[in-house]
Amino acid sequence: MSRGSVGIVGAGLVGSLAALTFLTKGFEVTLYEARPDPRTTNKDRNLRSINLAVSSRGLEALKYVGEELEKRILEEVIPMKGRMIHDVKGNQESQIYGLFGEAINSIDRAYLNDLLLEELVKKGVQVHFNHKLIKVDTTGDKQKISFINSDTAAAEATEPVEVTGSFDYIIGADGAHSQFRYQLQRSMRMSISQNYIDMQYIELYIPPNISEGSSLVKSKFSIDPNHLHIWPRHNFMLIALANKDGSFTSTFFLPWETIEAIKSPQEFLEFFETNFPDATSLIGGENLKEAYRSHPRGSLMQISAYPYHHPNGKAIIIGDAAHLMVPFYGQGMNCGFEDVRVLMQMIETNDFNVEKSFEQYSLERKKDLDCICDLAMANFKEMSSKVVDPFYLLRKKLDYV
Ligand code: FAD
Repeated sequence: MSRGSVGIVGAGLVGSLAALTFLTKGFEVTLYEARPDPRTTNKDRNLRSINLAVSSRGLEALKYVGEELEKRILEEVIPMKGRMIHDVKGNQESQIYGLFGEAINSIDRAYLNDLLLEELVKKGVQVHFNHKLIKVDTTGDKQKISFINSDTAAAEATEPVEVTGSFDYIIGADGAHSQFRYQLQRSMRMSISQNYIDMQYIELYIPPNISEGSSLVKSKFSIDPNHLHIWPRHNFMLIALANKDGSFTSTFFLPWETIEAIKSPQEFLEFFETNFPDATSLIGGENLKEAYRSHPRGSLMQISAYPYHHPNGKAIIIGDAAHLMVPFYGQGMNCGFEDVRVLMQMIETNDFNVEKSFEQYSLERKKDLDCICDLAMANFKEMSSKVVDPFYLLRKKLDYV
């Protein structure tokens, strides 16, 4: 027996996990995604953090859907049991996260998303790719969501094809620039704030040790894979997380005025040679110049919205659509996964009264979400400065005692 039909918008990490969770708990789920199926296209894949850190917060939500799913993901992660701090001279210092082997885990973003989608397709969920949300109608008994369908078949038609789905409940998981959120707040009193911070990021790449296997090279990793590497330089910083193939995805965070003051690929290289000499050798001079020329530069902002649900109790936003945070705490996806677990646990506790649970979710979830967004903002200072402050480190060590 179906517990009701649910239409979910956005087949990113959070929307896909939400679809799987609602399906597992007996709902009839349809998932819509603006982009083409990521499993069959490489387009747009490398624009945002190739890997990310999944923490116990995210793992708990995955386990809630099924221990098998969590197990499969854990098989693919690289545990990071601490930070590795790189100073300007190239010295490295390990700072472990906990005394009992606590770790966060590096995972390939595409692998994780594909795995969730594959599970959904295997379980018979209808996933409509190339469907871009344009309208949300919450006025009737059924919730209507309308899309422009740009499937190949539709593209052959002379006019773009608009399709509408009707559901008992609808969920917006369509990310930072959520159309679902925009549509919802037109028919309710939803407060929204959006704040850019003066920081941008550029992704860089540390290749694997190419001569792996030769008698001189012991590892395919050129630095320790089981640490989150940080090059803290106060106003700016570089970080790197390992990938399974021996490479590292590195992210350079810096104020806009700093990058704008750098006028050429050569100046960018010189900036690196001065501030990150060891990382310059790892990434390679020509690669850095190319990164300056062609890698996308991402801006960073926080978005908060409240309440998350529509007063009719049949529509809700989750994930980045509800609470975009800056990435310094590595918790955006983890927190979106937690949204799904918390919401479904409320639905179960309320004996599958979804309307009551959506309202309860808004009321009870806000303080935690506000708190984690603040922590994310504060963590830039922690990573870029405090990790080299001897007094701060001593205080932290004493906390363990
Ligand atoms: P998204 O991933 O943005 O997915 C939204 C989906 O909705 C997309 O597939 C999009 O195509 C689709 N969509 C958008 N508009 C429409 C529409 N109109 N119609 C239909 N579909 C639509 N988080 C962590 O937990 N750990 C980390 O280590 C980490 N590192 C990060 C590093 C960087 C540099 C950045 C920028 C972020 C990082 N994050 C990290 C945050 C994480 O990436 C996000 O929190 C997470 O991707 C949010 O997932 P989501 O599904 O809510 O949104």
